[in-house]
Amino acid sequence: MPEAGFAQTYRQARQLFLSAAGAAGATVQTYAHPLPGAEGEALAMDVARSGGFDAPALLVVSSACHGVEGFAGSAVQNVLLAEAALRADAQAAGVALLLIHALNPHGFSHQRRVTHEGVDLNRNWVDFTQPLPANPGYDAIAQLLLPERWPPGPEVQAGLQAYAAAHGPRALQQAVSGGQYRHPQGLFYGGAAPTWSHLTLRRVLRQHGRGCRRLAWIDLHTGLGPSGHGERILAARPDPATVQRARAWWGADGGRVTALHDGSSSSSELEGMMWQAAYDECPQAEFTGIALEYGTLPLEVTLAALRADHWHAAHPEAPAEGREQARRAMRAAFYVETPEWQQQVLAQGLAAVRLAVAGLSGA
Ligand SMILES: [Zn+2]
Repeated sequence: MPEAGFAQTYRQARQLFLSAAGAAGATVQTYAHPLPGAEGEALAMDVARSGGFDAPALLVVSSACHGVEGFAGSAVQNVLLAEAALRADAQAAGVALLLIHALNPHGFSHQRRVTHEGVDLNRNWVDFTQPLPANPGYDAIAQLLLPERWPPGPEVQAGLQAYAAAHGPRALQQAVSGGQYRHPQGLFYGGAAPTWSHLTLRRVLRQHGRGCRRLAWIDLHTGLGPSGHGERILAARPDPATVQRARAWWGADGGRVTALHDGSSSSSELEGMMWQAAYDECPQAEFTGIALEYGTLPLEVTLAALRADHWHAAHPEAPAEGREQARRAMRAAFYVETPEWQQQVLAQGLAAVRLAVAGLSGA
């Protein structure tokens, strides 16, 4: 039995979210996705708002930026909607809540990390009218990450190990996951244009975020770091005032806010991050944001699952058995189906929300 709030499929997660939003008396908007889901179900980005448009502060809590990671994020949102006392505290503090369910519903349903365009939504926020960022490290190992044959032979693994030995394991992580714009079927591909999720999220932020003076955002992820630990990673411009504010808010319980720019995070430095949208669409607001990144399995296991997933997406002729194995590996890499892990996810998710409400209210 999963913990309350956790679903087995995207369809179930969406039902739980819509019913929790209804029970909480939240206003719900649905942005329909153009494609069907893995079970033929309708896909959508659903938005639930609790609190009026005249609230001075807005807290955004979003799930499934990376599709399959949405099981954890959706559960935090569902449980948050059931926390009447927390929602009342937010309202009393002048903080409206905006829960964005399934930023990438296609990836959530199909249990992939990327959008239906094959794009990593958290690398998709670059200026596509300008030359796109280069990633020579990825170019150097692209053929090793996704070789002709699957599973890869020993020479492929030896090649990757040689790269790690020559440049260090951190450089390998940076090359693979930092973002790349040259290999559309590859991993951590940032795209050639704004995706459906990108354009839809801009509309949501424009509509809901234009009236507030202070804006905060907790974006829920999984797949990096020690199992069950929720790393609070700065997801905003790393100027001194913003860094200090984020560390004051989300450090108030003794926790720690890591950041990409100073190397304190388990994440690599990334191109084209989604938080850029907050500045573009809500320029009047003082913005503070984190990604809450829950650890699942060791990085090499997660990377192996991502490689198998991308390889099978590029090889529709491959046998069904290997494809099913790859699908199960993706789910296991981004969703830990034990009560312990799920309880950790919920407790840390709600704690981050409480700290954000206190920070936004100036308490
Ligand atoms: Zn993620």
